[in-house]
Amino acid sequence: MPRNDNAKKPPLTVRLASPRGFCAGVERAIRTVEEALALHGAPVFVRHEIVHNTHVVARLSAMGAVFVEDLGGVPTDRPVVFSAHGAPRTAHEDAASRKLMKIDATCPLVLKVHSQIRRHVSAGRKVILIGHRNHPEVIGSMGQAPEGAVILVETLDNIAALPDFAGPLAYSTQTTLSVDETKDMIAALKARFPEIAGPAREDICYATSNRQEAVKAAAKTCDLFVVIGSPTSSNSVRLVETAKAAGAADALLLEDAERFDWTLLNGVNTIGLSAGASAPETLVEAFLTALAARRNLRIDHIETAREDVVFNTPHRLAS
Ligand code: SF4
Repeated sequence: MPRNDNAKKPPLTVRLASPRGFCAGVERAIRTVEEALALHGAPVFVRHEIVHNTHVVARLSAMGAVFVEDLGGVPTDRPVVFSAHGAPRTAHEDAASRKLMKIDATCPLVLKVHSQIRRHVSAGRKVILIGHRNHPEVIGSMGQAPEGAVILVETLDNIAALPDFAGPLAYSTQTTLSVDETKDMIAALKARFPEIAGPAREDICYATSNRQEAVKAAAKTCDLFVVIGSPTSSNSVRLVETAKAAGAADALLLEDAERFDWTLLNGVNTIGLSAGASAPETLVEAFLTALAARRNLRIDHIETAREDVVFNTPHRLAS
C-alpha cells in the first residue's frame, strides 16, 4: 500500500493485548493430533473438538482428523485422541473396553484438577465445583467421582441454595472462568462453609488469568473491543465480559475478519484486540490486515505478562 494512500485513511488506534491466543495446553493438543497423523497416517479420530476453535478443527479435518462425540464408531486399529478439555472416567473406561488406541491430550492443568477432585473424594469430602454446566471440562471433572460426589455451582444464588452438609467439604473450579467472579464465589463458599478445603491457588489456569489481565489493561479507553475466538470457547467468552467490565464501550466475539460487520467501525477511534486461548494468531493478523485496508493504524502493544510455558506431547506418541 503506497504511503500517501495510508495518509488519506482515517486514523485508528489499536490496543493490542498480550498475552493473547494459544496457551500451552492448546498448542500441545494440536501438536498431539498433528504428530499422531504424521506417525499413523489418516484417519486419526478425535473425541470432541480438540480445542474450541472452528478454524483449528477445519484445518485438522483437512489433514485427516475425524471428530467424533461417541467412541462407538472408532476402529481399534486407528488412534483416538482425547481433547484438551478432559473426559469423564467412563469415557476412558469405554476406550479401554473397546481396546482403542487412546492418546490423551487433556491439558495437564485440567488433569491437576481431576486428581485434586479424586483425592478429596477418596478422603471422604464432598466437592463443590464452580463452573459452567454442560461445558466439556466440567463434564470431565464431575465424571472423576461417583454420581453425587461433586456438586456444580454456577452462581452466587446456587451457593446460597446449597444445603447444610454434615460431612467435610472441598471446592475446585473450572480452569477458564472469570478471575473476578470466581473470587466472589470462593469468598461466598468460605463464608458459608468456613472449614471448606480448597487449592492453595485457585484452579483458574495461568493462560486464562494472563489473558484477562491483559484485556483489563487494554480495554479501558476502547470504543470497541474485539476478541477473536469461537462462541464455544469459554475463555474467549470470558474475555468479552472482561473487556466490558474493564470499561470498553462495547465488546464482541469474532470468529474471523470475514464475519466482521464493518459498520461497527463507524465512530470508533480506538479499538482493543485480543484472542482466546484456542484462537490462532493468523486470525488476529488477518483482522489487523483488514483493519489496515480501511484505516491508518497506530498499534499500541499492551503487554502485561510474558509466557514461556510449554507442555510435551503425550508419551504414547514417543513410541
Ligand atoms: Fe490448559 Fe488453561 Fe489452555 Fe485450558 S486454557 S488448555 S487449562 S492452559
